[in-house]
Amino acid sequence: MSLARLLLRELIKGPRTLPAPPPGGGGAEVGAGLAGTGRARLGRSLRIREVDAGSCNGCELEIHAATGPVYDLGRFGIEFVASPRHADILLVTGPVSRNMAQALKRTYDAMPHPKWVVALGDCAIDGGCFAGGDAVLGGVRALLPVDLTIPGCPPPPEALLSGLLTLLDLVSGGPAAPLLPMDGEEPE
Ligand code: SF4
Repeated sequence: MSLARLLLRELIKGPRTLPAPPPGGGGAEVGAGLAGTGRARLGRSLRIREVDAGSCNGCELEIHAATGPVYDLGRFGIEFVASPRHADILLVTGPVSRNMAQALKRTYDAMPHPKWVVALGDCAIDGGCFAGGDAVLGGVRALLPVDLTIPGCPPPPEALLSGLLTLLDLVSGGPAAPLLPMDGEEPE
């Protein structure tokens, strides 16, 4: 089929992407709860360092969707950071490939305490469809202590939001960090 015909066919069919959530959707309620719990637990916003330990990039597409204009994780004070030294959560996607094992361990070791590990997607949980392959060690648990697993192939942005809220609820039993004043607020 010629490229012109292919383009015409796709134009007629319309977009293949899923429709956007309705107004007020997009995980707004869960996200607001997450922002409040994160602030109460940490005294500030939540920082995430993501490591692709060998994924097919499907999980990354959902993470990108979570930070895009519809779900917009940033509005809840959740931020992806480039340095593990700035991160509270290590978010791992994919099975742990042998090539990425050392980098993943060093990323974890570089993070300050308290720190938590989240395995996002079936592959990060137990190797998923890559389990048993010569190139993979298995799920993240083969290398690091995992605090939360978020199943799915791939998990949608709502699952990521709900999972992060669950994690913060789970760890909120410990001593909370003192609240830092927001811009314009007087310190407590
Ligand atoms: S869980 Fe699915 S989407 Fe995510 S890395 Fe594995 S195969 Fe890809």
